[in-house]
Amino acid sequence: MVPSLPSNENGCVFCSIVSRRSPAWIVYEDPSTVAFLDIFPFTRGHLLVVPKRHGARLTDLPFDDQMALVRSLDELCRRAERLTPDYNIALNAGARAGQVVFHVHFHVIPRYGGANPFRATSRAPLSDADARAVVAELSRP
Ligand code: AMP
Ligand code: ZN
Repeated sequence: MVPSLPSNENGCVFCSIVSRRSPAWIVYEDPSTVAFLDIFPFTRGHLLVVPKRHGARLTDLPFDDQMALVRSLDELCRRAERLTPDYNIALNAGARAGQVVFHVHFHVIPRYGGANPFRATSRAPLSDADARAVVAELSRP
């Protein structure tokens, strides 16, 4: 954790991942952002791109952090294209928009065809074997 980046550890699971107090399948890190696999992926390679600075919403972040986050989003989209050229980017802002972790994050959700994952009634947890394989593909610069 970079000391100059304030974070809210009060029960925020993404702050815990940023500070390495909680485990995650991290595929990317730079001074202001981190990206890791979603533990209940919609599809193979479902990623979360997260600022190290705590803020519930994009608009809670200083402009420079927003820009750094989008730069990292671009990098992770390029890496996701190793899996498939098609993907969704999502950002849920607020409980009524479906946000459940109140530390801003972009979802990058690769799409392979088949059933619409957004309509799925249940989501299987990420397996260690899948996670290892995806991390190997996506952590390479
Ligand atoms: P949102 O609905 O946009 O707030 O999405 C939060 C996402 O975070 C969900 O897709 C969860 O599966 C995912 N998630 C929650 N806890 C963790 C965790 N510890 N590691 C990775 N992903 C997580
Ligand atoms: Zn946080």
